[in-house]
Amino acid sequence: MMELSLTEWVLTILVGSMVLVLVFAMISRAARIGVEARSASRRTRCRLCLHVFEDGPSQGAVACPQCGAANEKGCRGGLG
Ligand SMILES: [Zn+2]
Repeated sequence: MMELSLTEWVLTILVGSMVLVLVFAMISRAARIGVEARSASRRTRCRLCLHVFEDGPSQGAVACPQCGAANEKGCRGGLG
Protein backbone atom coordinates (compact mmCIF):
# COMPACT_ATOMS: atom_id res chain seq x y z
CA MET A 1 0.00 0.00 0.00
CA MET A 2 1.26 3.44 -0.99
CA GLU A 3 1.62 6.00 1.77
CA LEU A 4 1.33 9.68 0.97
CA SER A 5 3.20 12.28 2.95
CA LEU A 6 1.30 15.38 4.06
CA THR A 7 2.89 17.45 1.27
CA GLU A 8 1.94 14.94 -1.40
CA TRP A 9 -1.58 14.70 0.00
CA VAL A 10 -2.04 18.51 -0.08
CA LEU A 11 -0.55 18.71 -3.57
CA THR A 12 -2.88 15.98 -4.81
CA ILE A 13 -5.92 17.83 -3.44
CA LEU A 14 -4.72 21.16 -4.87
CA VAL A 15 -4.04 19.78 -8.34
CA GLY A 16 -7.28 17.79 -8.30
CA SER A 17 -9.38 20.83 -7.38
CA MET A 18 -7.64 22.96 -10.03
CA VAL A 19 -8.42 20.36 -12.67
CA LEU A 20 -12.04 20.27 -11.49
CA VAL A 21 -12.33 24.07 -11.69
CA LEU A 22 -10.81 24.09 -15.19
CA VAL A 23 -13.21 21.38 -16.38
CA PHE A 24 -16.23 23.23 -14.97
CA ALA A 25 -15.04 26.53 -16.50
CA MET A 26 -14.66 24.93 -19.92
CA ILE A 27 -18.09 23.30 -19.69
CA SER A 28 -19.87 26.53 -18.69
CA ARG A 29 -17.96 28.49 -21.33
CA ALA A 30 -18.88 26.06 -24.08
CA ALA A 31 -22.52 26.17 -23.00
CA ARG A 32 -22.54 29.98 -23.01
CA ILE A 33 -20.92 30.16 -26.47
CA GLY A 34 -23.63 27.87 -27.82
CA VAL A 35 -26.43 30.00 -26.35
CA GLU A 36 -24.88 33.24 -27.65
CA ALA A 37 -24.36 31.83 -31.14
CA ARG A 38 -28.00 30.77 -31.27
CA SER A 39 -29.41 34.14 -30.15
CA ALA A 40 -26.85 36.24 -32.06
CA SER A 41 -28.33 35.11 -35.37
CA ARG A 42 -31.55 36.94 -34.48
CA ARG A 43 -29.88 40.02 -33.03
CA THR A 44 -29.45 43.34 -34.77
CA ARG A 45 -27.33 46.25 -33.65
CA CYS A 46 -28.60 49.70 -34.52
CA ARG A 47 -26.14 51.54 -36.77
CA LEU A 48 -27.05 54.87 -35.15
CA CYS A 49 -27.30 54.33 -31.40
CA LEU A 50 -25.69 50.84 -31.23
CA HIS A 51 -28.71 49.53 -29.31
CA VAL A 52 -28.88 45.73 -29.66
CA PHE A 53 -32.32 44.19 -30.12
CA GLU A 54 -33.90 41.01 -31.40
CA ASP A 55 -35.60 41.63 -34.71
CA GLY A 56 -37.82 38.56 -34.82
CA PRO A 57 -38.79 36.65 -37.97
CA SER A 58 -39.56 39.70 -40.16
CA GLN A 59 -37.65 40.25 -43.41
CA GLY A 60 -35.92 43.34 -44.73
CA ALA A 61 -35.29 46.49 -42.73
CA VAL A 62 -36.28 46.67 -39.09
CA ALA A 63 -36.78 49.80 -37.02
CA CYS A 64 -34.70 50.30 -33.90
CA PRO A 65 -36.94 50.40 -30.81
CA GLN A 66 -34.58 52.91 -29.22
CA CYS A 67 -34.25 55.62 -31.89
CA GLY A 68 -36.47 54.40 -34.73
CA ALA A 69 -33.70 54.24 -37.36
CA ALA A 70 -34.10 51.61 -40.07
CA ASN A 71 -31.53 48.83 -39.92
CA GLU A 72 -30.80 46.01 -42.33
CA LYS A 73 -31.70 42.67 -40.84
CA GLY A 74 -28.70 40.75 -39.56
CA CYS A 75 -26.40 43.75 -39.83
CA ARG A 76 -24.41 43.87 -36.62
CA GLY A 77 -22.06 46.66 -37.59
CA GLY A 78 -18.40 46.50 -38.50
CA LEU A 79 -17.10 46.28 -34.98
CA GLY A 80 -18.55 42.88 -34.30
ZN1 LIG B 1 -31.13 52.98 -32.69
